[in-house]
Amino acid sequence: MARGFNKPRNQFITLRQGYLEALFTYNRFKGMGTLNDVDVTERYKNVNENFDVYTHASYILEVITRALEDDIAEPGYYRLLKKAFKLLDEGNSTYGVTSLVLVKMLPAYGGQLNLGSCAVCGRNDYKKYSHYSFKYHNVLCCDCLTDDTLERAIPVSNRVLYFALYLQLVRLDDINSVKLSNETGRQLLKFIEVIYDEYSGVYFRSKKMIDPQ
Ligand SMILES: [Zn+2]
Repeated sequence: MARGFNKPRNQFITLRQGYLEALFTYNRFKGMGTLNDVDVTERYKNVNENFDVYTHASYILEVITRALEDDIAEPGYYRLLKKAFKLLDEGNSTYGVTSLVLVKMLPAYGGQLNLGSCAVCGRNDYKKYSHYSFKYHNVLCCDCLTDDTLERAIPVSNRVLYFALYLQLVRLDDINSVKLSNETGRQLLKFIEVIYDEYSGVYFRSKKMIDPQ
């Protein structure tokens, strides 16, 4: 509880302006703690001043917080959130960073993304990847397309499939930047959203501010 939070002039006023990372200090006293102090540790200036970046930050925050369960700490989610906000703030591809978060959070929503090798021939020549199949729940290569294998498969650009695979495999600590053209980024996010629709059925409200068409 933050005393005086709604008064116009109080020491917590910064909390009402956009996204910040802050260190909260509580006094725990009979049940509900009382908020004593707030130290802002990150201001995310670019995120808060640029509406387009802000909408992606909102989407990312919703995807991560919706996966949290009461009373279970998820330090991995927190690290992902911090990394994503940092990358957004540093001016990286918004679609790329949002896609990174969606790919990393997919297992928490019961989804799967199998891009390691073609479902039919088993080869892992990603330059030949051309479709994603919801019959095999796996990627398909261009050598293995028949009426039968194409049933419940969607065409996805080779570039998008490659980036999705990269985001899935890369360790957070190894990412220093996410650079993608806007067009590839949009297609990548759209593809991953199709995967979410297929497996999770969850609807993220903040997604509607972003149009990856
Ligand atoms: Zn194949």
